[in-house]
Amino acid sequence: MKVFKFGGASVKDAGAVKNVSTILSLFEGQKLTVIVSAMGKTTNKLEEVVRALFSRNEALFLRLVKESQSFHLEIIEGLFTEKKQEIISEIDGIFDLLRTQFNRELSDNFSLEYDQIVSLGEVISSKILSAYLLESGHSAAFADARKLIRTNNQFQEGNVDWKKSEELIRNSFLPNFEKVVIQVTQGFIGHSPEGLTTTLGREGSDYSAGIFAYCTNAESVTIWKDVPGMLNADPKWFDNTVKLDRISFKEAIELSYYGASVIHPKTIQPLQNKGISLYVKSFLDPTAEGTIIQASTENDHLVPSFIFKLNQVLFSFTTKDFSFIVEEHLSDIFKRLALVNAKINLMQNSAVNFSILVDREKIDPLQIVEIFKDTYEVRYNEGLELVTIRHFDQETLHRVSEGKEILVTQKTRQTARLVLKNK
Ligand code: ASP
Repeated sequence: MKVFKFGGASVKDAGAVKNVSTILSLFEGQKLTVIVSAMGKTTNKLEEVVRALFSRNEALFLRLVKESQSFHLEIIEGLFTEKKQEIISEIDGIFDLLRTQFNRELSDNFSLEYDQIVSLGEVISSKILSAYLLESGHSAAFADARKLIRTNNQFQEGNVDWKKSEELIRNSFLPNFEKVVIQVTQGFIGHSPEGLTTTLGREGSDYSAGIFAYCTNAESVTIWKDVPGMLNADPKWFDNTVKLDRISFKEAIELSYYGASVIHPKTIQPLQNKGISLYVKSFLDPTAEGTIIQASTENDHLVPSFIFKLNQVLFSFTTKDFSFIVEEHLSDIFKRLALVNAKINLMQNSAVNFSILVDREKIDPLQIVEIFKDTYEVRYNEGLELVTIRHFDQETLHRVSEGKEILVTQKTRQTARLVLKNK
């Protein structure tokens, strides 16, 4: 059995859903687990619904629910003839139930309520896709990941209970392949031990593909994207990107750690553990090669990869008494940073100085100054860019830093990281 994952962009309208069905026809007769995300930008829309619910803004809540419902109904209109009424009533039922949530007493656990609502995006898309596959002649069935993937009850960021999920998937999912060829299920969602819906964190559908593959000992996982495979840089920032034909699991983990956004970082570990190959392929050109991610590190060094993070702030903390930065300071600095949830992209120290680089969007520099000022002199520099180059050489270093001031350089044998400022 193979696992396929289709993200939001691959089911964003009726034409896209038809394209998924065409891709599946290329694999006629092969057992497939199809993991699907919410359609288009539905997850963002449902997040707004949850915020409207919590801010008790009924008019906004109802408007947003209506917009999401109309979006899905339009897709259904473009897809179905025979089973149209049946699927419309099913999807309307989900939205009607969602509307009633406004008058229900809310728990004060935002994340719990978030998961019950935001998960509906995946439920709806998988219902539409499985019904459409049936209508277009595939042997397909809907499977409910809320009964198959078990997590703890950390809502919005569920931790997978591998043993239990494996048991549930082996007993209640795999046997269905005796009756159907394709099972369509949801990415991103699971359930807590109490049976409440949980989610695995934004962009978590790739991870679901990894979980299903691990628990079923799948042959391979394919992530279908709107790019030809894993590229050596984001085409948004870079001309002349090159596709990585073959890379190792290790390299893929490194790239996603530094911020390459093609695959959710948690996806790789379960596949690596069982040696299950991962393919990244284009849903626009499904017969093209794409990228293969597997165990061998042989080809990793062939192409340098570039990862850019913009809008960075570099903070420098200097002890006020000019004492050396020692372990006690570091522990104190990290404690203070944890208070504001600062995620560090890079750090560096000297005798009396400790520097960190963080995303400007995620912190308020004045707040950082405030919480450090009793003990440290704090300086910061905004509007910076962090460039990470895997498998760098002199030419690539020069290429990214030309015309810019280099504030920090860090190098290992494989990786160079530069903090740059426009001159
Ligand atoms: N729909 C979820 C999100 O947008 C999960 C996913 O698509 O991976 O974050």
